[in-house]
Formats: sequence, structure tokens, C-alpha cells
Amino acid sequence: MLIVQKFGGTSVGDIARIKNVAKKVKQEIDLGNKIVVVVSAMSGVTNQLVDYCNQVSPLMDSQSLSEYDSIVATGEQVTCGLLALELQSIGYKARSFLGWQIPLTTDDVHSKARIDEIDGSYILKSMEVNDVVVIAGFQGIHKATNRISTLGRGGSDTSAVAIAAAIKADRCDIYTDVDGVYTTDPRITDKARKLNKVTYEEMLEMAYSGSKVLQTRSVAMAMAHNVRVRVLSTFAETTETSGTILINNDEEIMERRLITGISYSKNDVRITLTKMPDHAGLSSAIFGALHEKEVNIDMIVQNISADGKSVDITFTTDKTELEKAKMAIESVRGETNYAEMKIDEGIAKISVIGVGMISHSGVAHTMFKTLAEKGINILLISTSEIKISVLISKEYGELAVRVLHSAYGLDGK
Ligand code: ADP
Ligand code: ASP
Ligand code: MG
Repeated sequence: MLIVQKFGGTSVGDIARIKNVAKKVKQEIDLGNKIVVVVSAMSGVTNQLVDYCNQVSPLMDSQSLSEYDSIVATGEQVTCGLLALELQSIGYKARSFLGWQIPLTTDDVHSKARIDEIDGSYILKSMEVNDVVVIAGFQGIHKATNRISTLGRGGSDTSAVAIAAAIKADRCDIYTDVDGVYTTDPRITDKARKLNKVTYEEMLEMAYSGSKVLQTRSVAMAMAHNVRVRVLSTFAETTETSGTILINNDEEIMERRLITGISYSKNDVRITLTKMPDHAGLSSAIFGALHEKEVNIDMIVQNISADGKSVDITFTTDKTELEKAKMAIESVRGETNYAEMKIDEGIAKISVIGVGMISHSGVAHTMFKTLAEKGINILLISTSEIKISVLISKEYGELAVRVLHSAYGLDGK
């Protein structure tokens, strides 16, 4: 089999762990598999590099963000080189590649670039002369400007899945510090249970709403290109059935369930524009300006304002987008005439996810009742076919996850 193995930050966190990764690679080669490895930076390194950038610049425009990319991409250069060296020292022919050497080409939305294309032929060719090819995750190149790009935080997952699609790998194994996808973040409750299977749709919603075990785009990419993805632990013994496998909706799930998981995010900010005279084109002006600055929006609500004559618009976005969002909104102050721009960072988003909810009623009621019983006030609600999300005050975030986990019968121990 042709397998892409991706190792996250904790898995390559120091030299001993890089040696452990080399053993994992060896195990697969010994089984007769062909291996391409994708690595993240050592844990903490990307944060440190981001912090350096923030100390120097507010990083608001494409020029500064392209420098940011060339800085934060360096973490992966170190680990892919070190792993190739270690593989050589245990007797394999191995070499490292950076994103631009593949090349993995992206658009020019620096700091969260999207992959345009990966030419799998160069990777496959190097596999003819090497036992193992090791590729730096998270990074690519914008061809027209010849600039390094990065794929957004957690982007090595997406590199791995995209490379697996490009070389038509049989599987993409995402090795991390937990042994699979759980019903909720196991750091929040020890009652979280490991899921043996999860559908692509559910995983997409879970990732999007805060379960960062996989980057959202990696799941979308796996869905689009039919890549078989497995999430498993670097620190446990690997067997055929280890971890969690992503499956299609029509494949059999042994553990049929109403709710699959609960996601939690503390990274959102709520922005409200108050008392705007209502007219056609108001939302278009606001969200057009946000789009121009490449700000991603999550929840949106429009309300008649307290005075009954005008409207308020509330939306949420990622905290890292706040400064850009403020600039975008201020640029349409004349058109929108909002009285005030209110910013609330003290919020958490809790989402319950499950394909089972398509055919069942009462899922939302259980959520609202459970939160009410704990006196937790809901600030905003949004739904999709397989997800209900609420915004609540940040201080109740973990409590809400725990009580909902019990209420939906997900508790393991
Ligand atoms: P890596 O560095 O390997 O990419 P990440 O930190 O990005 O690892 O992702 C793994 C982490 O995701 C886990 O340590 C866990 O705390 C967190 N996580 C959040 N939600 C879930 C979930 N539903 N199942 C498993 N892990 C989760
Ligand atoms: N090193 C990058 C990050 O920390 C990419 C990754 O780990 O997936 O976001
Ligand atoms: Mg990750």
C-alpha cells in the first residue's frame, strides 16, 4: 500500500520523539508499504514564531502577511530535515522536501492560503530513488509572486491529505497525541469516548466548530478527493484497527447514534453593529467589506433594534481576524450609519453534531433545556442539518460541554 503518514507537533516535539517517529515509519516499511511522511513543526515552535511576528508588526496587509508566512514556515523545515537525517542514520535512503520544491502551489491569501495544485509526479519519481520522502507540512508557494505561503494554523493536516490525493495514496494516517477522534475534546472531560468511525460530514462540522484534532480544510479535501483518513496516536502501538477512520455516510456505522460529538471553541469574537437605518444593500455593504479583507464569518443574526425603527446586525469571526474586521467595518461607516460597534471576546461556542439528528426531533430542545437547568444563558443560536451551535459566556464553556455530553448519553466511564 501507498501510505501518507502525518506527524503533528507533539509527535516531533524533541529528538527522542523524532526517533520514535522514524520507528513508526520503519514499522510500515517493514510491512511492505511505501511511505511518504508529512511533518509539523516541533510543538510550540509555530506559536513562538507567530509571537515574534506580532511583536514586530500588526500583520494587516498582504505584504506583511507574506513575510509572516516565510517566517512561520521555518518550523517545518527543521523537523523534516531532522527526520530525514534520522531515517538515514537507521539505514534508509531518505530526503526532505519543502513545499516549494514539490511544488505545492497555493493562492496568495497569505497566512491562510488555499492549495491550487500539487504535482504528484515529482514525489512519485523521488520515491523511485528514495525509501522515504519527507515533506514539510503547512507550507507552499504562490507561483506568480514566487512567495512562500502557509495554509493556516493546523495546516499540516491539509498538506498531508492533499499530498495523499495527489499521489493517489491508499490511506492518509494522521498521527497525533490522542488515539483518535473522541466524542469531545478529551482534555475537557475524561468521560469522552473514542469513536471508531466518524463520517466526513460529521468530522467537517466538528473540525469547523472547534475540534482541532483535524484542520477543517483537510476534512473538506479528504471528502472532495475521497481520501481514506485515519487519526491515531504516535505514542501507542499501531494495529490495523487503531484510531478513528473517516467514512462515507452510506457506509455502515456499527455504533448508530443520535449525537456523535460536541465541539467547543474559545476562539470566536462577537461583533454587533447597532441601530442601522434598514435598507436594501445594508448586509451586502457590511459583508462585502469583510470579504474584501478576507475575513471569514461564522454566525450571522439580524434583529430589529431596541428602538423598533432600525436594525442591529451581529456576527462572529475568529479572534485572529478582529483587527481586520474592525478596519473593514469602519470603512463602511458612512454607508451603514451604525451607532456603535460592540465587541465581545468573552464568549464560547458549543456545538452538538450528529448525522442522526436529521431524522430525530428534540435534539435542540435537549440542548436548550440542559443549559437552562445550569442557568447558562444562550446569546446566539445557529443550525445546520447535522449541527446546532450556541454562543454562551466563556466562563461556562467547559461546564456546558460536560453537561451536554451527559445529557446526550455520550459519557464513557
Ligand atoms: P497535532 O499537533 O498532532 O496536529 P493538535 O493539537 O492539532 O495535534 O490536535 C490534537 C488535539 O486535538 C488533542 O490533543 C485534543 O486535545 C484536541 N481535540 C479537540 N477536540 C477533539 C476531539 N473531538 N477528539 C480528539 N481530540 C480533540
Ligand atoms: N505548525 C503549524 C501550526 O502549528 C501547522 C501544523 O501543526 O499543522 O499551526
Ligand atoms: Mg493539528
